[in-house]
Amino acid sequence: MEIVKDVCEMRLVVNQLIKDGESIGFVPTMGALHDGHTSLIRKAREDNQVVVVSIFVNHIQFDRKDDLIAYPVQLEKDHKIAKDNGADIIFEPDSDKIYPDGFETFVDLGNLTNFLCGAKRPGHFRGVATIVAKLFNIVKPHNAYFGQKDFQQSVIIKRIVRDLNIDVNIVVMPIVRNFDGLAYSSRNTYLSDNERSDALSIYEALKNARSKVLSGEFDSFKIIKRSCALINSMPSVKEIEYIAIVDCDTLEELKIVNNKAVMVLAVWVGGTRLIDNCKLMDDDC
Ligand code: AMP
Repeated sequence: MEIVKDVCEMRLVVNQLIKDGESIGFVPTMGALHDGHTSLIRKAREDNQVVVVSIFVNHIQFDRKDDLIAYPVQLEKDHKIAKDNGADIIFEPDSDKIYPDGFETFVDLGNLTNFLCGAKRPGHFRGVATIVAKLFNIVKPHNAYFGQKDFQQSVIIKRIVRDLNIDVNIVVMPIVRNFDGLAYSSRNTYLSDNERSDALSIYEALKNARSKVLSGEFDSFKIIKRSCALINSMPSVKEIEYIAIVDCDTLEELKIVNNKAVMVLAVWVGGTRLIDNCKLMDDDC
């Protein structure tokens, strides 16, 4: 496995791969790799001749300085995990090469960023959209892999690719969970034992919502009320930042659950913000 730090070198490698007719699968990450990331790397391995994983903590997408400072970094461990799961190339650029002095061009979306995480984290999706567009331009992947865990992000990335005519196929992979249902996240390491155990209420609430729908309850208000009660009954839960049932393409709230409904939420457990989501029916999302 090759580790490339330089943008120009990455371009040379990619241009040669394209010349040789190799298909490139790309998994963008911020490192601290876990089983959620490896599911994307393994899928990229299955689908492509060459797998590129980027590790870059994109500071412009952090809305809180303390979150950026605390963000876990474990590069050597990440290299091994990426290699063991089939990565051929790690792209690990320095921040000043990605955002050189005078950098001032950003990808700004419209309405899609006004909801959910976008409403609560000013500038977050502008940062995400900008880095993803830049990485696509450098890596030139045929296929790029994202997790449904960051549901709004996946919707936004599909929209960027469509709106800017970027020539890449976006693959969104299911959420990978721990054995007890907690979705893998780089931020789970911040949770104390009690907080971790209370955080399981998030998955319980999502499962409860889904089973309500499957047994014929379609009133979003009633479903959300029950889910809130479940989560709020946990002592370490500080706040449900948002909880909503939304259309999987437009992210607009649905009063009545339909086959495009996804329940999405962000919850503060102690000092840790966790996000999760679940499709409420199996159909069109
Ligand atoms: P991050 O390093 O947090 O930026 O995440 C990199 C990619 O991994 C994103 O596409 C995430 O949606 C995806 N990802 C993170 N956690 C999970 C998970 N538990 N299951 C599936 N994909 C995930």
